[in-house]
Amino acid sequence: MQYVSTRGGAPALDFEGVTLAGLASDGGLYVPAEWPRFSKDEIRAMRGLAYPDLAARVMAPFVSGSLTEDELSAICHKVYGDFGHGAVTPLVQLDAQHWLLELFHGPTLAFKDVALQLLGRLFETFLARRGERLTIVGATSGDTGSAAIQAVAGLDRVEIFMLHPRGRVSDVQRRQMTTVLSPNVHNLAIDGSFDDAQAHVKRMFTDPEVTGRLNLGAVNSINWARLMAQVVYYFASALQLGGPDRPVAYSVPTGNFGDVFAGYVAAKMGLPIERLIVATNINDILHRALSSGDYSAGGVTPTITPSMDIQVSSNFERLLFDCGGRDGAALAQQMRGFEQTRAMQLTNAQAEGAAALFTSARADQAETARAMAWAYRVAGQVIDPHTAVGLHAAQAVAAAGVVPAGVPLVTLATAHPAKFRDAVERAVGVRPALPARVGDLFGREESMVALPGDYVATRDYVLGHAGAG
Ligand SMILES: *Cc1c(COP(=O)(O)O)cnc(C)c1O
Repeated sequence: MQYVSTRGGAPALDFEGVTLAGLASDGGLYVPAEWPRFSKDEIRAMRGLAYPDLAARVMAPFVSGSLTEDELSAICHKVYGDFGHGAVTPLVQLDAQHWLLELFHGPTLAFKDVALQLLGRLFETFLARRGERLTIVGATSGDTGSAAIQAVAGLDRVEIFMLHPRGRVSDVQRRQMTTVLSPNVHNLAIDGSFDDAQAHVKRMFTDPEVTGRLNLGAVNSINWARLMAQVVYYFASALQLGGPDRPVAYSVPTGNFGDVFAGYVAAKMGLPIERLIVATNINDILHRALSSGDYSAGGVTPTITPSMDIQVSSNFERLLFDCGGRDGAALAQQMRGFEQTRAMQLTNAQAEGAAALFTSARADQAETARAMAWAYRVAGQVIDPHTAVGLHAAQAVAAAGVVPAGVPLVTLATAHPAKFRDAVERAVGVRPALPARVGDLFGREESMVALPGDYVATRDYVLGHAGAG
């Protein structure tokens, strides 16, 4: 499989190439040159497969030429054999129409593990083949950092420097990063905000002092391999609910548009999906873009769903490319305009292409809390606030008749409630316990380095400690 950049100005690469590259050299994102498609018979034949075998079946077309079927299957068994639930991503029924797809049974209790655990193994495989090493530098406001650290801890050819704003991530989130004591893991607590930490990371990627000495890698959701891994659970859940002979709808708590774009990919591959609901909190750039074509960034308002507090959704570019006729030059121009003015209007083709599958809805804080309370009252389910944004959107869209009553509506449960237990306790009066497998989190030793907020101190720390592990 070959991959092309959404901005048309970077060389096509194979799967190994896009996995190690992350962002394309023209600033665009890689997408498959064409969508692989399964027939209904091929999808029916996937029923009953264990998750690791299903994962290998669904991802095979995307990795062809870079991994053999046996290599892919071995990686999937290693990665998904280790999750905290035998079904990996189990379904839970809430009422006659609504379901939850639990994506939080990985090591850090959020859906990002499903993809990052795989990405760590892919890095190791491809780097060994090339005889190279990779230094990952990232900034996190919480979930991504811990999932990335857990994914690469102990790997031979990868080391990770993860910056977080000191004192501004929750205790659980910090400990999920700092209690990983592998020598290839470096936690840097930076004075300042998340945006300051993020700015340091961006600057390192263009600083010749750094790029001249280190082979830098990124783990944010612009990496195609992450999206690919997320396609699998759409197949897994739809097959259980009667697919491909019965359409299924999904509501997806959305930030960077990665998780919900994976649903779009599943539909392109032939899985009958009735609707994809893009659920946002009050930081609703995507809701505005999908409902009125106006994609304009404002400021970010902090909410009880911090992983969805975004200004710009990087993966939205992939949808605009695909719906807009795959014209890289035109999209490059459109994105340049957006980068200058922080606003753009979707073209008719983009708006109509998106409307064919996507619907959007937003939830404010009160609606989010009400959805948590409803799930607890009606089904005895304690859900996290991000999941609750998705559930609120699912209920709103169902009430508006956009998804018919006979169609199962699956809300993606993106985090375990114990990760956000203060907000959960306020909404439902129950303080969720951490699952046993991470239960001693507060008894473990922490390791991190506190650094002042300036760029040079951070850069020099990375240069001084890279390659030492
Ligand atoms: C990252 C994250 C999201 C948003 O996912 P995107 O792929 O960025 O849209 C939603 N919920 C939780 C808990 C997350 O960690």
